Amino acid sequence: SLYFYKTDFVEKKGVNLTPDDRGYYFGDGIYEVFRVYNGRIYEQQAHMDRLQKSAADVRITLPYSLEQIGDILTKLVQLNELVEGTIYMQITRGEAPRAHPFPAEATPVLLAYTTEVKRPLTTIQNGIHAISLEDIRWLRCDLKTLNLLPNVMAKQTALDRGVQEVVLHRNGTVTECSASNFMIVKDNVLYTHPANNLILHGITRAVVLRLANALHIEVQEVPFTLEQLQQADEAFITGTTVEVTPVLTVDGSPIGTGQSGPVTRKLQLEFERTFAL
Ligand code: PLP
Repeated sequence: SLYFYKTDFVEKKGVNLTPDDRGYYFGDGIYEVFRVYNGRIYEQQAHMDRLQKSAADVRITLPYSLEQIGDILTKLVQLNELVEGTIYMQITRGEAPRAHPFPAEATPVLLAYTTEVKRPLTTIQNGIHAISLEDIRWLRCDLKTLNLLPNVMAKQTALDRGVQEVVLHRNGTVTECSASNFMIVKDNVLYTHPANNLILHGITRAVVLRLANALHIEVQEVPFTLEQLQQADEAFITGTTVEVTPVLTVDGSPIGTGQSGPVTRKLQLEFERTFAL
């Protein structure tokens, strides 16, 4: 399966990454993960818009126009004959000897590849368990940057404690999860953290909120606490790879019945209809 690296489609061994790539020394770069359903890139425009915002706010000049990047990704999917899977794409600030200031002349480096990772049907169906954990990340969680050490640490803490995910909170206010957004249902109202600087503005989150509106489910983009989470009827995560996955327990306590709930299931069904065309 081919990679796109800098200017060309190459085999993995043709990816001549250098340690001087600032992604390596500083995590100085941005990324996107796309889902491919039926050979088509899902919500491509939304991902491109977010990429543009991440790039602008960390002051990386994209090495290609958004249209050219779209063409590169489409070609990559075609060359790799990808039907179902994901595309990983990152853009780092460029190559230069290690020093904090932006290099005067460095060309941003684009790397992209595809995977054949399938939809996680078992957890989508059966749900997952989570623990709560303090959100110790910086104050620009809306930028999709390569600095994922806090997310990596959080995810590993979950696995070490025998569950699949963490619900992150700042002083008791729930933000999101290690690689997904988080939503609860209480009295048929859907609650999720507002799309501000404290969470990633998930593409799946936006799709699910649109679907909820269409289903006349009331949506409240307001912060809620761990206590409110424990009193909720349903909880689920949203993300490109996890889609809509029920969360059955948090810190060992069942949310609602401790089973996947009716609002979650309705949103899952509607979500499937957005790509199963
Ligand atoms: N929150 C974080 C921290 C993420 O890394 C991700 C990425 O998958 C999400 C939320 C979900 O965003 P999206 O639905 O765009 O995949």
